[in-house]
Amino acid sequence: MIGKKVTFWAHEVVKPYLKDALVLVDGTMGNGQDTLFLRENSSSDAKVYSFDIQPIALEMTSQVLTEQDRLGSVELILANHRDINKFVPTKIDVGMLNLGYLPQGNKEITTMTENSLSTLGIWLEKLSLHGLISVVCYPGHVEGEQEYLAISNYLSELSGALFQVARMEAWNRKNGAPVAFFIERIREGLL
Ligand code: SAM
Repeated sequence: MIGKKVTFWAHEVVKPYLKDALVLVDGTMGNGQDTLFLRENSSSDAKVYSFDIQPIALEMTSQVLTEQDRLGSVELILANHRDINKFVPTKIDVGMLNLGYLPQGNKEITTMTENSLSTLGIWLEKLSLHGLISVVCYPGHVEGEQEYLAISNYLSELSGALFQVARMEAWNRKNGAPVAFFIERIREGLL
């Protein structure tokens, strides 16, 4: 497992949380791999909401899901993931934020620090008890480094009474390697 990519680690950590989860959110659908992962590893009662701001991401994700016959109970939403409350009325059980830009896409269209920070705050308020949010950061590009530092700092200060936060990263890589954060809600309460 450790020899694989950080996105693989994220899937392995998220997987056990999907067993009883009913409301799943992929905040950055991109090529559709995380949306497909959520759909394939959750119960048929679960609903997956997936966000992206690029129409191409919806096209690619729709194609991937159709090929795997997994379109059912997945809602593809062309919107900023910060606007989750307009589309997801309930609490969320599992959320994934694989930040950065679309691989093989327009690198100018990337997640932005301030938006990602406010998104995290909104998502954490909606996280159900014992639910999990994963966040993968890519400090290897300029905006990604700023975003990573801000998120790392924000999560280090998050209430330990309400949340448990863990991080995973390749320790012997040079600067710029991706970092995964995992946040589980351990107690009800406001941030
Ligand atoms: N999870 C994807 C997958 O499995 O292929 C990869 C995601 S890619 C690293 C990041 C994506 O975030 C891009 O497709 C980009 O368009 C999207 N994105 C950037 N800012 C966003 C925002 N504010 N709201 C929703 N999506 C955003």
